Amino acid sequence: MATTMDQLERLKQLQQVDGELFRLREEQRRKPAELQALQAQVAAAQARVKAAEERLKTLQVSQKERDMELQTREGRARQLKGQLFQVKTNKEYTALQHEIDSLQADNSLLEEDIIKLLDAIEQAGKAVQAERQQVAKDEERLRAEQRRIEQDVAELAQRIAKLEHDRAALTPDVPQEALALYERVLEMREGLALVPILGESCGGCHRRLPPQVINEASLKAKLVTCETCNRILYADESRA
Ligand SMILES: [Zn+2]
Repeated sequence: MATTMDQLERLKQLQQVDGELFRLREEQRRKPAELQALQAQVAAAQARVKAAEERLKTLQVSQKERDMELQTREGRARQLKGQLFQVKTNKEYTALQHEIDSLQADNSLLEEDIIKLLDAIEQAGKAVQAERQQVAKDEERLRAEQRRIEQDVAELAQRIAKLEHDRAALTPDVPQEALALYERVLEMREGLALVPILGESCGGCHRRLPPQVINEASLKAKLVTCETCNRILYADESRA
């Protein structure tokens, strides 16, 4: 039968492995979250492309509408000009000429509008191109980052597998009851089940320990646990 001192030595080795295992598993679990910021950036860039495309489309529709309107009005002006030759009186002629002038003045304004719209369409087209380039860049970065994280996760998995192997070699030497206690606390206390007594306090929860608990721990006749956090305590001789 292993002495408590032996058990503690084995548990210390186990705790070293388990502490590292806990840390690596946490790291592995958190890895995919590292992509979140980039994924959000890509989504925002894609939304900007869509908005730029919408704006371009709106401008194009509005330009087509103005074009058609201009054609209609020009047709009307041509029609009125044709009528100039048919009028009988000067008064009619003047009135008709006045109508033609006013229509042509409106048409010049419409032409100016169309020129402005064509200019805006050109700018909007450039904006669409720029946003598409940005999204392509962001997507490429995201893919590179995904590859990096996959690599990291694979490396972590290797290190974890090695530690699990080390652990499997250690556990047969720990008596079943002690191992069961240790593993229960390990599960409950995020990978830290065995702690030194620091001064007069638990090295896990840092609560002050009763003197008899400290005494019992230094006698090493049995495993002693912290009443507050349930972790297994050991007297840290290097600090005594
Ligand atoms: Zn404690």
